[in-house]
Amino acid sequence: MVPKALDSDILILGSGGAGLFAALHAHKASPQLSITVAVKGLLGKCGCTRMVQGGYNVALAREDSIERHFMDTIQGGAWLADQELAWKLVVLAIERIRELENELGCFFDRNPDGTVHQKAFAGQTFDRTVHKGDLTGIEIINRLAEQVWARDIGRLEEHRAVELIKDSSGKSIAGVLFIDMRTGEYVFVRAKAVLLATGGGPTMYRYHTPSGDKTCDGLAMALRAGLPLRDMEMVQFHPTGLLAGAHTRMTGTVLEEGLRGAGGHLLNGAKERFMPRYDPKAERATRDLVSRAMFTEMRKGNTSPHGGLYISMSHLGAERVAREFKGMVERCADCGFDLAGGMVEVVPTAHYMMGGVEFAPDCTTALPGLFVAGEDSGGVHGANRLGGNGVANSTVFGAVAGDEMAAWVKSAAYREPDRAAIEAAIEFCERPFRRGPAASLEPLREKLYGVMWEKVGILRDAAGLLEAQADLNALDRALDAWSLPSAERAFNLTWHDWLNLKSLVAVSRSIALAAAARRESRGAHFRTDFPESGQLEQSAFTSITDGTITMKPVAFTRVSPGQTLLRNVA
Ligand SMILES: Cc1cc2nc3c(=O)[nH]c(=O)nc-3n(C[C@H](O)[C@H](O)[C@H](O)COP(=O)(O)OP(=O)(O)OC[C@H]3O[C@@H](n4cnc5c(N)ncnc54)[C@H](O)[C@@H]3O)c2cc1C
Repeated sequence: MVPKALDSDILILGSGGAGLFAALHAHKASPQLSITVAVKGLLGKCGCTRMVQGGYNVALAREDSIERHFMDTIQGGAWLADQELAWKLVVLAIERIRELENELGCFFDRNPDGTVHQKAFAGQTFDRTVHKGDLTGIEIINRLAEQVWARDIGRLEEHRAVELIKDSSGKSIAGVLFIDMRTGEYVFVRAKAVLLATGGGPTMYRYHTPSGDKTCDGLAMALRAGLPLRDMEMVQFHPTGLLAGAHTRMTGTVLEEGLRGAGGHLLNGAKERFMPRYDPKAERATRDLVSRAMFTEMRKGNTSPHGGLYISMSHLGAERVAREFKGMVERCADCGFDLAGGMVEVVPTAHYMMGGVEFAPDCTTALPGLFVAGEDSGGVHGANRLGGNGVANSTVFGAVAGDEMAAWVKSAAYREPDRAAIEAAIEFCERPFRRGPAASLEPLREKLYGVMWEKVGILRDAAGLLEAQADLNALDRALDAWSLPSAERAFNLTWHDWLNLKSLVAVSRSIALAAAARRESRGAHFRTDFPESGQLEQSAFTSITDGTITMKPVAFTRVSPGQTLLRNVA
C-alpha cells in the first residue's frame, strides 16, 4: 500500500495548548514556513487543554515570586523534577499568560482593582492560579484556535498519527505516517521538524478524566522509535471522579476539589465519614493521600452500590452548595444525583501522567528533528503535578518548541524516509483486517481496565506488578490475534479502538515496569511493600528505552533537598 504523500517544513501532532502555541510561535518566527497541525479530532475541539477547569499557575502578584513557584513545584514533585525544566516553566509562564491576555484575546477573571484574580490551589504556598471562572480551558483553546484559523497554517483534522518514521540512516526523523480517519487512507507527511504533542492521557484505568481521543499514541510511538521515557510510574489520581455506572461517559469525570475544600465529607458504604482515620487534614489532605485512603476503604468492601464511596455536602446547607457549586450540582443532577441535598457516588479517577519523553529545555529529544511538549513530555513535574501547572506546562513548552523548530528548519533539509519502516507500520495497522472469527473488543478493554486499576493503580506491590506485566503481555498477544468485524475503512471506529488499545497496552507495560523498579513510595507512586520514601539526596528517576529500565540520578542544578531558594525562610 503506498500512502498519499505531503510535505510540511514543520509538522505538529496535536492541537492542545502545546500544539497550538507551537504553531503560532513557529508562524510568528518565520511566516514563510509551511506549518501543519495534524490532529486525531477537530482542531480546537479535542484534547484536555479544553477541559481545564481550575486554571493556570503563574507568579504574577508582587508578593509572589518565580522562586516561590519553583520551590512549590520541586517540593510538590518530591524532588524528582528536572530543575532546569521546572525553572523554565515558572519563568516563561509569566510571558505566556501576558501573551494569552494581551495578544491572543483571553479574558481572565479580575479583581475590583483591575489586577488579574488568582485563586488558591492545593500544594501551593501562594494563591497564584489564574482562571476564567471554572471554564479556563475553553477560553484558552477557543482563542488559540481562532488565531490559528486566521493564519496560513495547514490543518489535517481527523488524521491519526500512527508512526514516527526515521530517515534511511535511522538517525533523524523524516516524517510521520497517518491514517485519514475519514477515508481510512494512509498519508505520509515528510517534515523537517516534528512536534510530538498528543497529550499522553491515562485512559487505561477503569476510571479516568481525560478526553477519549487521548490514548497515549504519542508515547507509544516514542517507545517504538526507541526514545527514552521517564517517570512513567507517576500517574496522578484525582479523588472525586463521578461514579454513575458503566453506561455513561460521565463516570470518571471530575467533581472539583473545591467541594472538599469547602468542607464536603467523604463517606463509605455504611455512610460513615472515614477520612479523619487516615489523615489529620481529613478530606482536605492532598490528592494522593485522599485517593489512597479512598482506595483502601473500597478494598475493605465497604462501598456504595456502584462500588465506590460517597461525597456529602448537605451539612453545609443545600442552598449554599447550590449557589457556590452550580456547575457541579447540575452535572450531578444530569446523572440522577442530588449534590446539594443528598449524596453523590464518587471514586478516585486517573487524571494525569507526570511521565513522558525525556527532553531538554529547548524541547529537543534524543531523535534529531523530533521535539516534544506538553503532557507527552516527562520531567517537568517529577513525582506529582501541582494543579494549575499542567496547562502552564503545555503552553510554555509549546511556545518554546515553536520558536526552536522555526530556528531548526532554517538549516535542516527534508530527509528521505525509511520506506521499509513505512511498510512495516502499515502492516502493523492492517493486522486486524486479517480475516478471523469476529469478536468484540470490550472484553479486552475490560481486562486492561481491571489489570491497571487493581494492580498498577493507587496501591501497588511487587506481586501485583509482576502479575500485571504478564497480564499485559497476554493482552497484547490477544489484541494481535483479534480481527475486525468489518473491512470498511472510512470512520471505522472499531479499527481505531484497536489502535487505541495497542497504544494503551504498550504504555501500560512501561508504567508497570517503572512501578516495579521504584522500590519506595514517593509522590503519586505508592508501594504497600515499600511504604517509605527513600533518601531524597539520592533521588533517581526511572528511564525506559526499548523495554529496558535504568535509574538515572536527579541533578540538583538549582537547589538540593533541605535547601530553598527563598530568602528569609528558616
Ligand atoms: C478534566 C481535566 C481538568 C483539568 N484541569 C486542569 C487545571 O485546572 N489546570 C491545569 O493546569 N491542568 C488541568 N488539566 C490538565 C491539562 O488539561 C493538561 O495538562 C494539558 O492541557 C495538556 O495539554 P497538551 O497540549 O499536552 O494535550 P491536550 O490538550 O490533551 O491535546 C492533545 C492533542 O493531541 C491529539 N492527539 C492525540 N493522539 C493523537 C494522534 N495519534 N494523532 C494526532 N493527534 C493526536 C488530541 O486529539 C489533542 O488534540 C486538566 C485535565 C483534565 C482532564
